[in-house]
Amino acid sequence: MRKPVVAIVGRPNVGKSTIFNRLVGERISIIEDKPGVTRDRIYAPAEWLATEFDLIDTGGIDLGDEPLLVQVRQQAEIAIDEADVIIFLLNGKEGITGADEEVAKLLFKSNKPVVLGVNKMDNPEMRNEIYEYYAMGFGEPFPISGSHGLGLGDLLDEVVKHFPNMEDNDDETDTIHFSLIGRPNVGKSSLVNAILNEDRVIVSDIEGTTRDAVDTKLVKDGKNYIIIDTAGMRKKGKVYETTEKYSILRALKAIERSDVVLILIDAETGIREQDKKIAGYAHDAGRAMVIVVNKWDTIETTEKSMKEFESKVRAHFQFLDYAPIVFLSAKTKKRIHTLLPAVQTASENHAKRIPTNVLNDVIMDAIALNPTPTIKGRRLKILYATQVAVKPPAFVVFVNDPELVHFSYERFLENKIREAFGFIGTPIKLFARKRQ
Ligand code: GDP
Ligand code: GDP
Repeated sequence: MRKPVVAIVGRPNVGKSTIFNRLVGERISIIEDKPGVTRDRIYAPAEWLATEFDLIDTGGIDLGDEPLLVQVRQQAEIAIDEADVIIFLLNGKEGITGADEEVAKLLFKSNKPVVLGVNKMDNPEMRNEIYEYYAMGFGEPFPISGSHGLGLGDLLDEVVKHFPNMEDNDDETDTIHFSLIGRPNVGKSSLVNAILNEDRVIVSDIEGTTRDAVDTKLVKDGKNYIIIDTAGMRKKGKVYETTEKYSILRALKAIERSDVVLILIDAETGIREQDKKIAGYAHDAGRAMVIVVNKWDTIETTEKSMKEFESKVRAHFQFLDYAPIVFLSAKTKKRIHTLLPAVQTASENHAKRIPTNVLNDVIMDAIALNPTPTIKGRRLKILYATQVAVKPPAFVVFVNDPELVHFSYERFLENKIREAFGFIGTPIKLFARKRQ
């Protein structure tokens, strides 16, 4: 199901990123030390009173060398395009400025729900000044202090009130949600069109989806899919469309809702750094993955060229060694029929459950083949393993001491599990827990 999206807008230094970090809480620090886009901290899941939502810090969307006022305005436009509810942040120490009024005008016109937060109200006596902010015309202004964590609860109560109804009108359990991500011009729109025009594909509109979500439902060979279309949502001509951060933001938003993520690579221009960043996020998010090499019509295709390209992809995307690679052309439709089966396989593996006894047979065989290591005179003992989650599959291995599980042994076990059960197209997770 789609989660509501909340964006924080406001001038520089009003405290957007401080509030963002507060609301996102610990979750961000867990993923923070990983390489890739997760460090950029512009998009993260958050939660209030058991309601989950995704939060965008528009201040983190770097729009290049534009003058400040232009940037603030563009960030507000992005918030209007992307969010269900907007937190408009002011600086209570400085009062209302011209730039604030500019942003206010845009927000007004958009008709999006706006909740006004007046930040840096660190002392209770400052709260008397809150009344002047009614003049902004966004209803009750909420005095908050990001650095002290004050008033955020009341603000969030108000935000949650404006969440739209998120019910997807489809049977979640047997529908595969997938998205296509990749740099501008890799062919995302073309590929969506090519998929929808394939033989025996039945396309239907989805009732009740929100205005800005471009989801398309399709049925092929009795299987239900929903394409979460990021490219199709683009409003051509806006300056920020081409910025890297913005395209990443779009990708993150789609990844959040996907079972399977198709990372598109342009065979003509080759692999770029940005491709890896985006793929890295999908991997970190634990989604099933298929690598799609598009524009294969531009390459002289021999058996060898495919192998060569594949080894290039493998070298660049080592962390995606489980993802199948599909070569196709959205333009000529060549090999396009190989795509949905790959998506389906990845999705099945993503949701696969292994019975405990079967899993333990495989683990015990693995130990027999490659005995557990001894570190500082102590031998690792593996008692048993069990699968604790799906999407992606996660396994807990109970051991005498988790400190003794060296990375290389963990990797070995993971490989053995993969060898035995396939898991093509999905990351899997392995945790060691202590058990005497
Ligand atoms: P952004 O540019 O809007 O993302 O603002 P930041 O979150 O980077 O904050 C700008 C500055 O304001 C930083 O020095 C923060 O420490 C400070 N700041 C943020 N929230 C508060 C607050 O509630 N009270 C005070 N006094 N300072 C704050
Ligand atoms: P997006 O920005 O990722 O949505 O990319 P588009 O679908 O708009 O495609 C960008 C350009 O690449 C367009 O000019 C397409 O015609 C072209 N293109 C897309 N797929 C293919 C393909 O398979 N082969 C070739 N030769 N060109 C393609």
